[in-house]
Amino acid sequence: MAYQTLKEVLAEAEELDFTVGAFNAHNLEMVPAMIEAAHEEGAPIIIQTSVGTAETEGMRNFVAVCKTMAEHEAVDVVLHLDHARKLEDIEAAIAAGYSSVMFDGSLLPFKENIEKTKRVVEYAHQRGVSVEGEIGTIGGTEEGFTVKEGNYTRLEDAVQFLQECDVDALAVGVGTHHGQFQSKTKLNFPLIEELHAHLKKPMVIHGGTGVAESDYHRLTENGIRKFNVGTELLVAWTKKAKEKLSKTEVNESLRNNMIPCNEEVYQIIKHKIALFMNQK
Ligand SMILES: [Zn+2]
Repeated sequence: MAYQTLKEVLAEAEELDFTVGAFNAHNLEMVPAMIEAAHEEGAPIIIQTSVGTAETEGMRNFVAVCKTMAEHEAVDVVLHLDHARKLEDIEAAIAAGYSSVMFDGSLLPFKENIEKTKRVVEYAHQRGVSVEGEIGTIGGTEEGFTVKEGNYTRLEDAVQFLQECDVDALAVGVGTHHGQFQSKTKLNFPLIEELHAHLKKPMVIHGGTGVAESDYHRLTENGIRKFNVGTELLVAWTKKAKEKLSKTEVNESLRNNMIPCNEEVYQIIKHKIALFMNQK
């Protein structure tokens, strides 16, 4: 078991027909519990960070934790930079040791998205790092970027994009929203099936918190190999932190308040991974 690229774990998922959970780490504190959950389930895990979180906590610190645990805990771990829009952020993550990056050019004109993604792919692949691209847009707010209504991915755009860009995974707009956690989304399954029938690359669902768990099976069947969950972890960790910290003595050992927060994240990830793995 080892520190892996996205390409490696998604190839395994394709071969064995499962979906790999990609979970946003909102701080360094929760990362060991996240990886422990994957280890417990005997599954690979993608730990991903936003650019903002990566900069706050230190990219090299995330790399150190993920690499150390991958090497010592018998679990495959990918460390992925989520939604990078600037080339300099991608260069910084690769220099720090991230094994995978997303270049999100979805808000750019189509041609510019292709041009920039191509450059990222060339740069990253030369350094043994995987790349996720995006076609279509995902609604909602993430890292201060708000997209009112997501745009569905158009098949002809996706085909052309993949002809020109050798990305390792493709994020698609199929009805999900970033940040959605109080309701469930209606996925466009006819579109997902159409994309799956024509595209050869693994597809990625963003805004996974808003997807009903009863839909997971159908997503795996239709070539979704990376499934992102961020908001649910953030909400659960914060709720538990509020509950614990509102009652604590100021000289209480901090771990007594943090362990239950991390335990929330651990349980959610363990539960999701079990669903992603047992799709048959
Ligand atoms: Zn996203």
